[in-house]
Amino acid sequence: MSKFNETQELLTQLIRNECVNDGSVASGHEYKNSDLLEGYLGLPGIKLDTFESQPGRKSLVARLEGSNPEASSLCLMGHTDVVPVSPEGWKHDPFGAELIDGEIWGRGAIDMLNLTASMAVAMKQVAMSGSRPAGDLVFFAVADEEAGGTYGAKYAVENHWDLIAADCVLTEYGGIQSENETGKFVLINAGEKGVDWRRLIIKGKPGHGSRPYGADNALVKAAEIVRRIDQYRPNPVLTDQWKRRIDSLDLPAELRSRLSSEAALAEALSELDPGDASFFHACSHTTFSPNVIEGGTKTNTICDHVELHLDIRSLPGETPDEIDAHLRTALGDLYGEVEFERFLDTPANKELASSSEVKGKLWDSVASAVQRAEPGATIVPGLITGGTDARFYREMGSQVLGAGLLNSNVDSSEFYSRFHGHNERIDLHSLDLATQLWIDVVDTFNQN
Ligand SMILES: [Zn+2]
Repeated sequence: MSKFNETQELLTQLIRNECVNDGSVASGHEYKNSDLLEGYLGLPGIKLDTFESQPGRKSLVARLEGSNPEASSLCLMGHTDVVPVSPEGWKHDPFGAELIDGEIWGRGAIDMLNLTASMAVAMKQVAMSGSRPAGDLVFFAVADEEAGGTYGAKYAVENHWDLIAADCVLTEYGGIQSENETGKFVLINAGEKGVDWRRLIIKGKPGHGSRPYGADNALVKAAEIVRRIDQYRPNPVLTDQWKRRIDSLDLPAELRSRLSSEAALAEALSELDPGDASFFHACSHTTFSPNVIEGGTKTNTICDHVELHLDIRSLPGETPDEIDAHLRTALGDLYGEVEFERFLDTPANKELASSSEVKGKLWDSVASAVQRAEPGATIVPGLITGGTDARFYREMGSQVLGAGLLNSNVDSSEFYSRFHGHNERIDLHSLDLATQLWIDVVDTFNQN
């Protein structure tokens, strides 16, 4: 079987194992995918370790020892869990992994069992090549990415760092191609937004609901707070990376230039298709989304207590104090009437957002490997708006890039809609490209 057929075969089995993570401890059952990959990688030279954070929540680490203990180590990290499906929205069985018109269909086909499968195949190819890489090569097939990593990457960093340690890491997600009159580009993600969820506690005075005149009603105050947050327009932050990313887009030059201007950005965003607009807005702004409200006791009692959950996503480098300053501006005179609780942030106790440098051996190796497949293509750094396991390694000081390589005809907006959506699928050419990319990155990384 060729290495490309092995990736297809592994992906098919990983999808059919249905390692669905619904956020509960008892879900995931990643032992099935861990066991499958352990069996696949049982080869001389590869040291295999597994650990279970909770029954069934198993992760696998495969390590190929390098020839030079001083050389940088490289880890290929892929998660083995997938998010649940709503089967009625699918055209084909979400766990059938059927090959239809050159595409493999199923939950995880792009997020990210495709990459996990191709990474495992690359690991095996390197192990069988007969020549040891200079630095250690690690393949980490990790559980529980989709519910925040508590039973996967977080657990591994806290309990098994010696097993998973690596100087450089490649994981989800990159590889979208674009082209305009200035050249050909491949997106490689170098950072992700931070999470700083806040619970806002808004108090009032209870009283009889029949006499609302002049009442101090917490719900009325909360409504005004929600309105102010919705109306708040923080300034965009347009970094050099932002400008490089915009310059690579397949958009008219005139629109690209407005997207790189603070003054013209708001209007330019409104001219993009809705999926792109919300994505590029999130990449250039701190965002605030009021998503949960709880409060009140009884229809005839004036509301004296409301809790409002705000999903706040910070830009790389933004601190909790800076988030507080945003909230002070947004809420104005109501700021003092609210108690704030931080109830989820990542990485804990550090800067809220994480990013890695876009230079050095790892960046250059990805650039050369991409060039082998797509001569003349330049890699461009991007930002992921959600969270991935990259942050756990970044917190330990590793350089982490979200990499991959997709067929040049994959449309980015349509492709991103398949993440956690219906009809997730991957074309076979993209699988081949990813498999070869990892092999070539390992090769160039160990030559540099
Ligand atoms: Zn993922």
